Amino acid sequence: MMLDAEIKNQLAEYLQLLENDVLIKISAESDTVSKEMLALMDELTALSPKIKTEQKKLPRTPSFSINRMGEDTGVTFAGVPLGHEFTSLVLALLQVSGRAPKVDGKLIDRVKSIKGEYHFETFISLSCHNCPEVVQALNLMSILNPGITHTMIDGAAFKDEVESKDIMAVPTVYLNGEVFGSGRMTLEEILGKLGSAPDVSEFKEKEPFDILVIGGGPAGASAAIYAARKGIRTGIVAERFGGQVRETLGIENLISVEYTEGPEFADTLEQHVKKYDVDIMSSQRVRHLERKEFIEVELENGALLKSKAVILSTGARWRNVGVPGEKEFKNKGVAYCPHCDGPLFKGKQVAVIGGGNSGIEAAIDLAGIASHVTVLEFMPELKADAILQKRLYSLPNVTVIKNVQTKEITGTDKVNGITYTDRESGADHHVELQGVFVQIGLVANTEWLGETVERNRIGEIIVDNHNATSVPGVFAAGDCTDSVYKQIVIAMGSGANAALSAFDYLIRS
Ligand SMILES: Cc1cc2nc3c(=O)[nH]c(=O)nc-3n(C[C@H](O)[C@H](O)[C@H](O)COP(=O)(O)OP(=O)(O)OC[C@H]3O[C@@H](n4cnc5c(N)ncnc54)[C@H](O)[C@@H]3O)c2cc1C
Repeated sequence: MMLDAEIKNQLAEYLQLLENDVLIKISAESDTVSKEMLALMDELTALSPKIKTEQKKLPRTPSFSINRMGEDTGVTFAGVPLGHEFTSLVLALLQVSGRAPKVDGKLIDRVKSIKGEYHFETFISLSCHNCPEVVQALNLMSILNPGITHTMIDGAAFKDEVESKDIMAVPTVYLNGEVFGSGRMTLEEILGKLGSAPDVSEFKEKEPFDILVIGGGPAGASAAIYAARKGIRTGIVAERFGGQVRETLGIENLISVEYTEGPEFADTLEQHVKKYDVDIMSSQRVRHLERKEFIEVELENGALLKSKAVILSTGARWRNVGVPGEKEFKNKGVAYCPHCDGPLFKGKQVAVIGGGNSGIEAAIDLAGIASHVTVLEFMPELKADAILQKRLYSLPNVTVIKNVQTKEITGTDKVNGITYTDRESGADHHVELQGVFVQIGLVANTEWLGETVERNRIGEIIVDNHNATSVPGVFAAGDCTDSVYKQIVIAMGSGANAALSAFDYLIRS
């Protein structure tokens, strides 16, 4: 039995929603993964009479494609899409059956209007929480456009292919045999990369806003909701709605929600904002801000937005270590997301740079997958919580090296080692390994502000207890500010504080 009783019940409910028959073409042999796949297919067909199957030799075995009766859609799963990809399987079944996707109509039109042949392949791991979004976007594109096909490939089931292609990060997407991109990508971002741009004229015609929020993480979403509830003209521009939480696995400290997962939480943030009259401009980057008659905000697509007040909530991103080799070998052994890319280093030797909470959590996580983990810490002591350190030191395959500075990540076409300097003796040492996880904290996304808004030494926007910045009418909230702690509830609270303060500013000015 592949699925436990609870999942089976849920699945049976979902499969009730199938609108038309779907035909699954199965390519299987006698290997273990094929057997697992066949068992899953048996369970699916037992749950819905609308699911038909047939044997068919496909380019990869084991794999299966999900099709309309009499028409191939090009949606293929190579491996068994359980784990984080289970939702991708369910959505593919429903969408192929004719059920409308929950995607903006304008995006659907853009997908349908793409001309040409696009054959996508996405290498994933079943524990990667960033992968399903990419898989689901590309599956949907295949379902909507006959020129597009997409195959999800579970790296664990196709190890030889992963090795021969030197894939060291998931998701890695190939288009027509060439690397197209890696890491999280939304449908809009994929369309952008394919050259299908949204119509900029729609931005040019926008009336000035009362409050314009920049950034769509917890702080921005909260600010937008609080502003919109005042009945004023509110807009939100976000490069990637959801923000950092999209990179997070389990969240257990969102008060009143015992447990949720990052991508799911990010979706609920967006849904909540959509309940209000907020102009959401996602997949848009802001590059400049200036106070004139209005506060003017320039987007990277060239459009200029105007607003009486602005709330900056651009959050933070992983800090780079900034040594030779880091950029060159990014996704070729240099990684930032242990949950996503950890499984690709199974049985290999890796290093974690950084001995704070995230570094030590990563090291503990990786020790269960990699053959050996070396932790490199700059300071003479680890900064992680005692409980994490205790757990770390109990593991047999971890070496902790303190008071060292990373000098270089070495390699040829992929990482083969790391060189560090002992800060006490000044001597250089080299460790041979195949992967380096950089976990040295976060840096505020504020460079684009230039000299306009006052920031502290580490680039965080300085705010007062109204979340006001040095520029009248410009407020800031969340991880991009100098708030002492960076957490979801704190970001949401400060977003609310910023919006109420901005409203107060509007009625007084
Ligand atoms: C791995 C990890 C695990 C975590 N786990 C937890 C946890 O369990 N519990 C918890 O409370 N917190 C956790 N955090 C911290 C939490 O995610 C952050 O505190 C929170 O997301 C901050 O929210 P924010 O809205 O300020 O910024 P972000 O979430 O960083 O959002 C920033 C937004 O701004 C956008 N943006 C950035 N630059 C631009 C630009 N130039 N133009 C337009 N848009 C832009 C981004 O696309 C994004 O939409 C975790 C963080 C990480 C990285």
